[in-house]
This record gives sequence, C-alpha cells and structure tokens, in this order.
Amino acid sequence: MSDADETKSDFIRDIIANDLATGKHQSIITRFPPEPNGYLHIGHAKSICLNFGIALENRGVGAKCHLRFDDTNPSKEEVEYVESIREDVKWLGFEWDALHFASDYFEFYFDCAISLIEKGLAYVDEQTHEQMRETRGNLNVPGTPSPWRERPTSENLDLFRRMRAGEFPDGAMVLRAKIDLASSNMNLRDPVVYRIMRAHHHNTGDAWCIYPMYDYAHPLEDALEHITHSLCTLEFENHRPLYDWVIENCPVPAKPRQIEFARLNLTYTVMSKRKLLQLVKEGLVSGWDDPRIPTISGLRRRGYPAEAIRNFCKRIGITKFNGTTSVDLLEFEVRSYLNREAPRRMAVLHPLKVVLENVAADERVDAEVQEHPERTEWGTRRLSHGREIWIEQDDFLEDPPKKFYRLGPGRHVRLRGGDIMKCLSFGKNADGHVTEVRCELLKGTAGANAPEGVECRAAIHWVDAATGHDAEVRLYDRLFLVENPDDQEEGFLSALNPDSLSILKAKIEPDLATMEAGAFCQFERTGYFVADAKDHLPGQKAVFNRSVGLKDSWAKAVK
Ligand code: ATP
Ligand code: MG
Repeated sequence: MSDADETKSDFIRDIIANDLATGKHQSIITRFPPEPNGYLHIGHAKSICLNFGIALENRGVGAKCHLRFDDTNPSKEEVEYVESIREDVKWLGFEWDALHFASDYFEFYFDCAISLIEKGLAYVDEQTHEQMRETRGNLNVPGTPSPWRERPTSENLDLFRRMRAGEFPDGAMVLRAKIDLASSNMNLRDPVVYRIMRAHHHNTGDAWCIYPMYDYAHPLEDALEHITHSLCTLEFENHRPLYDWVIENCPVPAKPRQIEFARLNLTYTVMSKRKLLQLVKEGLVSGWDDPRIPTISGLRRRGYPAEAIRNFCKRIGITKFNGTTSVDLLEFEVRSYLNREAPRRMAVLHPLKVVLENVAADERVDAEVQEHPERTEWGTRRLSHGREIWIEQDDFLEDPPKKFYRLGPGRHVRLRGGDIMKCLSFGKNADGHVTEVRCELLKGTAGANAPEGVECRAAIHWVDAATGHDAEVRLYDRLFLVENPDDQEEGFLSALNPDSLSILKAKIEPDLATMEAGAFCQFERTGYFVADAKDHLPGQKAVFNRSVGLKDSWAKAVK
C-alpha cells in the first residue's frame, strides 16, 4: 500500500526497529486478535492499521501479520461475527499472512495446564465464586489461601482430567494458577485459568466443557504462532506480569513480548462492543451497519472510504496516553479524501419549484457542468433543462439581506453550468410558505459574463423537473448529544440524539438515479453522499446517505 510508506514512527515502531537492529529478532510477526462477539469498530481499525501496517513496513525482513479469532469464550461468540470481521479487515485494505482460530489450540492450552500442575504451579479449587472473591484480599491485605491450595499434584491431575471429562457440573471447581497471594498485582493472586462451562462452540462443538481464561490463553496463542510483538491496549498493562508468567512457566515454542498502547475513543459516540450490541439489539439503530455507529460496516455504509479511515489512524498515531479524539478529525479526513476523489453532481434536498416563464413547454436549454473543479482531465457533463426546474428552498429569500447573493425578488442568480435567471415573482401558500418562484432566463449567458447592468454573484445548483428523479436522502447527525456519552450518569442511552436521522424527499439529476450502490459523489454545495449499499437500486429506486457535509460559510455567518 503506497500510503504506508509515509507512516511516522512511534514508540512501538522504535522498539521493533531496535529489535531488528540488535538482532534480537530476524523478522517480525504481529497479530490482530478480535474476539468474534461483535462487529469491528474504528477502535479496531486503529489496531488493524498498527499491526498490519508494521508487517507491511517490514516486508523487507519477511514480516507478517496474522488474523486470529480469539474465540476461546463460546458464550458470546457467533459465526456471523467471524464473517463480518474478515470482510471488514479486507475492506480496510489489508491481507492477513495467516488466519488462525484460538480454539484450534484448545488441546495445547490443556497440555500446558497439565504441565503447570505437574510443576506444582496450578491447583483445582472447589471454593465458590464468592469465597474466592472474599479471600482475595485487597491492596493492603494479602489473599487467604484456599483450603485446596496445597492439594497433592496427583489429586490435581486427576480432578483436572475429570473436569475435562465432564464429571462435574458447571462452576463446581476451577483450575487456578499458583502464583502469589500477597502480590500487589491482583492479577497474580492465583488467577483462574480454567472454568467448567457447558456451552456449544462454533468451532469445536461440544468437544469441550472446560474453557481457558483470556489471560492464560492469549500468551499461549501468541507463543504458538511465534508472534514477536503482541500489541494490545493499555488496560492490559496490569496483566502483563501474568502474560509473562504464563510464557515463563509453560512449554512454549517462542517468547512474545506484550506492548500496550492507548485505545482510540471518539467524541459523540460509544465504542464498546457491549454498548454497540445494546444499540443494535434494542433497535435504537437499524443494525450493525447503521451509518450512525462507528462500526467499520456502519462507516462503510455511511460512505467513509477505507483510505480516509487509514489516513485518520495514521494521523492520530500511537501513544501511551489515553484520551478522546474529536470526531471532527475523522470527518476532516473523510472530507479531504472525498474532496479529491468525488465527482460532482447536482441534487436538490429541499425542492422549490422555479418556472422559467420565457422557456416554452417543449423547449430544452443546454448546460454543461464540470465533473470536478480541479480534475480538469475528468472533463464536463452535458445537462439540459426545460421550463420547470427545482432549486433549494433556502436559495430563495423573500426579503434577502444585502450579503445574500442568491435569489430574491428582482435579483439574478446563475444556474450552475447554465444561464443566469432573474426572479420576477413568487407564490405562497396559506401558511406563508413560498411554493413557487417565477423567473426569466437570460438566454445565451451560459459560460459568459453577466450582461452590463446585471449583478450576478452566485451560481446555484438545480435539477430539471422533467428529467430529474425522486430520491430518498438520509442525513445523519451525531447519535449522541454529548461529547462523552460514556460519562452520563443516567447511562449512555440518556444522551441519544432523537434527531440523528432525517429523511428527505429530494430531486436528483438523471445520472444519479443509475449510479451503482456504494458509489460516492459530491452533491454540489450540500455535501458528500454515497448511494446506499442496501436500498439504492440503480434505475429503480434512488437512496443516498450523507457521508459528511461541506463547510457552509453562509450558515457560519448566520450563527
Ligand atoms: P471492546 O472493548 O470494544 O469490546 P475488545 O477490546 O473487547 O473491544 P477485541 O475483539 O478483544 O475487542 O479486540 C481486538 C483487538 O483490537 C485487541 O487487540 C484490542 O486491544 C484492539 N482494540 C479494541 N478496541 C480498541 C480501541 N478502541 N482502540 C484501539 N484498539 C482497540
Ligand atoms: Mg476483548
């Protein structure tokens, strides 16, 4: 990928460069290890760009990145998630060098547990959950040993094998590592490494009724795959001593190193899979690909290009400091990508009819618009209109202030790519809303300066009424009203924005009706839009999502 070259260094890349320079490693293997219990979100994109990015940057020494499904907890995992994760990683522009499932290593985790027991480093504990919690102590008080802590090895081996064989009910006992009950790191106070849980696993079916804990299984997965640098988020910093303990005490083929970095948080949204799942399950959004949530599939449906997301990840960089990144920065990257790459089209979101009084009912008037203001190589597009056209309601003001350069009684404005028109009169309905504007077209002024004495300082977009199509346009706003919904006292749902979606009946130029689903463009003067991946049916039904707005200098001035 060309854009990977410009990546600036960070403390993780520095460590890796150093490990290569000193000969500690001849090559590098990283991994991205999602748990298939939800769809990927933009926080995962940060981790994906980091892990796959490092492998790409070190291709010269044969560096690799694995995609590994961390599927050791069958209670929350589903095949649907496995599929979506593969698709999202590919869509982001990355290819894994190997694909693994942590559940393929169940036998290995079991063997390692046996070896821990044989070394006197693990025991079967029959205390209840509550008893274990009560005897864990706290920062000032060491834990109290379980009555089972000093069981003979042979008894531990026997019980653990029988746990596997299904002789005991769920929760009857656990296998605990025997580490240090007085440790200031609570994770080292004899952590549970195996529990009994009768749950169907998507990969191993009902073969197992005991499952390993994350902190125990993860280092073993990394070691088996010869991962050199196991990159994870800061919450795991406290777990690193346990990670290292497992590596130190199990018969592993390699010694991976865990390094933590700050997770991505974004303003005006939530990122945890649990909260995203709740939004989906409770029908507060339309699904995992709702364009208002920060899942990769939601952002894709919103029309955010993969390259813009990668550029965003590059811009925020990798640090050890937790913080919250402004969603404006993500939108900035999307806007700058689309500004460069999106062809321009015309669509009227809040239509107001204009009747051109001097255009005959069967007459056609030509216009020619640029595909892109800077990409002159893209050329121009021919359009035409008849006697009736649509313009935006707010491009007409009954009583415009001086600085408003668009349409008002007696004023002139240019139709983008076409002639200038002059407002002659307008009609209103009983509520006082303007329903129609009547204009005179200054024929022959297309592509030419305004005639002497005519003041025309703006061009507005328009859609021909006869050939234009109807379209559903979805405008998305922030899903939450506050910057940090996670901090809401009454829970994050109390900050939901009730107006996060508005659906408009718009008018679009003919070209847009046949555009492919998923294709993006700029609607001139209104924003960047994407033809909806699911509901837009070329030639049959037009549905567009707003990806991101343009900056409107007029709206700012009004504020
Ligand atoms: P969540 O907390 O959103 O439920 P998770 O950490 O449980 O996510 P995993 O599937 O375990 O999700 O994550 C896979 C990888 O992605 C992990 O290495 C994890 O550290 C990383 N990751 C998850 N969320 C973020 C984030 N917000 N920023 C950066 N990396 C993240
Ligand atoms: Mg996790």
